[in-house]
Amino acid sequence: MSDLVIFFLLFAAVAIGWFLGRRSPASPLALSSYFTGRRAALDPPADIANDPLLDDLPENVGGTQLRLAQGVRLRRRGEVAGAVRIHQDLLAGAGLPADDAAQAQLELARDYISAGLLDRAEELLLALVQDFPRQRQAARRHLLEVYEIERDWRRAIEVARGMLPHKLLRQGNSLEAPPERGQRAARLLAHYCCELAGEERIAGNLQAARRLLLEALFRDPQCVRASLVLAQVEFDAGRYRQAATALRRVRGQDADYLPETVDMLRKCYAALGDGKSLREYLLESLAARPTPALVATVAEDMAQVEGDAVAADFLAQQLPGHPSLGGLLRLMGLQSAASRGAHQADIRLLEGLTQRLLASRPAYRCGHCGFAGKHLHWHCPGCKQWGSIKAVGGSDTP
Ligand SMILES: [Zn+2]
Repeated sequence: MSDLVIFFLLFAAVAIGWFLGRRSPASPLALSSYFTGRRAALDPPADIANDPLLDDLPENVGGTQLRLAQGVRLRRRGEVAGAVRIHQDLLAGAGLPADDAAQAQLELARDYISAGLLDRAEELLLALVQDFPRQRQAARRHLLEVYEIERDWRRAIEVARGMLPHKLLRQGNSLEAPPERGQRAARLLAHYCCELAGEERIAGNLQAARRLLLEALFRDPQCVRASLVLAQVEFDAGRYRQAATALRRVRGQDADYLPETVDMLRKCYAALGDGKSLREYLLESLAARPTPALVATVAEDMAQVEGDAVAADFLAQQLPGHPSLGGLLRLMGLQSAASRGAHQADIRLLEGLTQRLLASRPAYRCGHCGFAGKHLHWHCPGCKQWGSIKAVGGSDTP
């Protein structure tokens, strides 16, 4: 074979190799350097884990960040056993820098949470909180996830208190200038206090429940739930004036929740023998922020106190400006009660149809993920956010 032919074959081999290299998946070595270059911009590995190139990489190849990202990607795909194996192997390896070891430990704890092995996750996370300041806040967030699943509100409160900045811990929050930092922790803490207060109330420990609710309001003055549960506690204790005060606080916290307060307010004022104050409060609220739900609520109150005819007149005036299926249904109910014969049968038919329409619609919706349902959940079953669910359109419920 002549030198020229040999040279030609070598040239062709290099060219084909170059061409195939461009088309085939990146080699582990190339991936490794690729990710090393991106590490500064995309740390932590959770960001890198979105890259589908990781699927072509064997498990035991690559640097620590690359393998962490690979574990995260496996967990996201539901392959938790593979993620656990990668993170355990990393931790078992010799000479892993402390920061990388802490990161691997955090990811392993997250694997355990995904697998439902909450005790193991808790053990790893508590160790991180204790020993690794840089991972402390992230470890606490995942600890809260564990305690929420276990409904262990005492421990959740303890951890959330640890997440508050020192200044906030001493001074509480304020409606005028809520500080950004720690605000989320304060909101969570308030909900955990409400959960535990609810349990204490059911157990008859009203004083303990009251203390927890006052802490909830101190941490998050806008916590509507704390006002509602506090009202229940005060009502149970026969302190109707204090219960009404707690309920009336809701309008300033978030007026969308005002309809949630009316049933209990009615009971409080009935116990106090003061129906006039309820009516004044409702009309004042309606003037300040008219919503279909409030129109229906005021009509309900009028029907009870002044009779169906007055309530029907009020609804007939208000519904054109604040139309709602709930209000319409209430009006038809009032009119059918006052009618006779064929006219009454016609109204009842319409009433039944409207009822079916209303039954098919959700009463509450999460502002974060859109989860919809018939009941008010303080912890969204869809996205696990706290306090993100409200009545639809200021409530269209009857
Ligand atoms: Zn949600």
